[in-house]
Amino acid sequence: TKDEGRGHYRLFEPQMKASVQRRRSLEVDLRRAAANGEFEVYYQPVVAVPTRQVVGHEALLRWHHPVRGRIPPDHFIPLAEEIGVIEPISEWVLAQACAVAAARPEVGRIAVNLSAGQFTSRRTNLVQQICAALAASGLPPGRLELEITETMLLKDTDAVLATLHALKGLGVSIAMDDFGTGFSSLDYLTRFPFDRVKVDRSFIHTLAHENPLVLRALNELCRAFSMHVTAEGVETEQQYRAVIASGYTEAQGFLFGRPEPRFSSVPRPPR
Ligand code: C2E
Ligand code: CA
Ligand code: CA
Ligand code: CA
Repeated sequence: TKDEGRGHYRLFEPQMKASVQRRRSLEVDLRRAAANGEFEVYYQPVVAVPTRQVVGHEALLRWHHPVRGRIPPDHFIPLAEEIGVIEPISEWVLAQACAVAAARPEVGRIAVNLSAGQFTSRRTNLVQQICAALAASGLPPGRLELEITETMLLKDTDAVLATLHALKGLGVSIAMDDFGTGFSSLDYLTRFPFDRVKVDRSFIHTLAHENPLVLRALNELCRAFSMHVTAEGVETEQQYRAVIASGYTEAQGFLFGRPEPRFSSVPRPPR
């Protein structure tokens, strides 16, 4: 009945109010976070299979909130997109990652995650932004990889395609992130010029022990499109064995190294 519905509403009201307030205060804090120096970029190694030699790093944003502590990017990036502060944050991550990587050639490729907001709102600026970050840091374009997810490709395909080609024209490479988690992953492989596909960790985790043949087929599918492939989220030796057996050439995951404020130990070149 209606009464019951109202009763339920009343029951949840205080919780809803609390979550709305929490969100509001988070919004205010997020707008000030950059100026307060609360952001930090962490780097997780990407290794060659099967040697485990470090071939690159992924830049992952961290927010050290003065009161709430560490807030994971999955929690605040969507909010940053919504309230329109993702662009300056992304620009900062990019500049930071390019600068530290430029100073350390031996750390290899540096991967930076792009956000949907960067892609859709001001396309021309994205290309200029990348161009400026490369110029300012002196990072060779060939060492920069930009990671994008399927959801960024949903709207305005022609414009996205033009942007991707312009980015590739700068000499940077493009990776499709979290491959397999969306609805039309295969379709996207045929339509967009990715250099690399990162197979999502949910596949690595379930397929490694349940269906290694599918793990291999995924790799071969991407290779058939002439794309490099990285297995994400490798946590155990057992998963790693399946990744090796399935013919993957690169892997990333806690087994090889967690995201850290510094590049993971890479032998320094002899002087
Ligand atoms: P992602 O791009 O798929 O990044 C990989 C995530 O998986 C990272 O989480 C990483 O810490 C985690 N991970 C790596 N290896 C393993 C493993 O072996 N096991 C498990 N369980 N997890 C592993 P993180 O750092 O919390 O980032 C979450 C997401 O937030 C990222 O997913 C990315 O979508 C987004 N993100 C992070 N930094 C940025 C950024 O600078 N800009 C944008 N736009 N998004 C970012
Ligand atoms: Ca990523
Ligand atoms: Ca991923
Ligand atoms: Ca992700």
